[in-house]
Amino acid sequence: MSASVLLIYTGGTIGMLADPRTGILHPMDLAHLEEQVPELERVKVRLASTSFERAIDSSDIRPSDWIRLAAIIQKNYNDFDGFVVLHGSDTMAYTASALSFLLEGLAKPVILTGSQLPIGTIRTDAKENLITAIEIAAAKDEDGHARVPEVAVYFEYRLFRGNRTVKVHAERFEAFRSPNWPALAEAGVHIRYDRSAILPHRSGPLKAHDRMDDHVAVIRLFPGIRGAWVKHALAMPDLRATLLTTFGSGNGPTDPEFISALREARERGVILLNATQCVGGRVEQGRYVTSQAFVGMGVVPCSNMTVEAALTKAMFLLGRHSDAASVEHGMTEVLCGEMGLR
Ligand code: ASP
Repeated sequence: MSASVLLIYTGGTIGMLADPRTGILHPMDLAHLEEQVPELERVKVRLASTSFERAIDSSDIRPSDWIRLAAIIQKNYNDFDGFVVLHGSDTMAYTASALSFLLEGLAKPVILTGSQLPIGTIRTDAKENLITAIEIAAAKDEDGHARVPEVAVYFEYRLFRGNRTVKVHAERFEAFRSPNWPALAEAGVHIRYDRSAILPHRSGPLKAHDRMDDHVAVIRLFPGIRGAWVKHALAMPDLRATLLTTFGSGNGPTDPEFISALREARERGVILLNATQCVGGRVEQGRYVTSQAFVGMGVVPCSNMTVEAALTKAMFLLGRHSDAASVEHGMTEVLCGEMGLR
């Protein structure tokens, strides 16, 4: 019997149409998208589809949408072999990261894809992305297990682990990269899977979590950042965690006003996390004098997690734990392949 895949449409360029008067792209519904791909009839997979009530540009995605997606997957988990999420590329790396944390015990493929050009345009990248994503979601190994039992992003011939992915280009079809982890598969004449890069098969039930806490902030450091501004930003009431995106291997200014703004926030119980602004490589707090103060005040280093993974992991852990210590500890544990080297 052929494998079954559930297509979940959220919106994004893939399904958009240009307003004939202004040329501005607007999200369209699933029926429009399906009309544009008659090839879907010929894919040897049993396909079903569902969609958000209103298709959205992915800039409007919120944590509640991630929870909604996780719930759709949980509800349909036993009825399908895999899932394809059609999503705008702009925030796809955040959604892929969030889903990887929310879907605990996932043993089936959840493949996110989209496109840089709408599906109805002549040079579109949408059809290849969609059809190959469906094939990957349906693929089984010799033992009948899913080839990719994890959340992944498929774009322009490459499959990446979702929580390792970053969007690196606003125009190229090759819009994504996974700087700290190899591609899980490459599609050419054949789809070649790199087994050693893919999470191992697991059995057991799926648990879709339903809480994320968005009382978080990101502060991107820059030369000359004012301590007074940082102090102001960290004074936001209800703020539980802030991700500092730092220089190089996790460094920041030694300016006393900046350091004391961080220290004050720590004293009020705000969790501080350290992810590097570099696309590749990891945070090594204490290697330079410019990260020594972070060690002293208990800033949590995020190793080689992407900003997208570190932020969504923090939201996920804050949703699960009310105490800072459990969240801080959780940030240092590998939950689903989001950090570490091969
Ligand atoms: N703005 C679009 C979105 O993220 C871009 C895309 O789909 O690639 O929804």
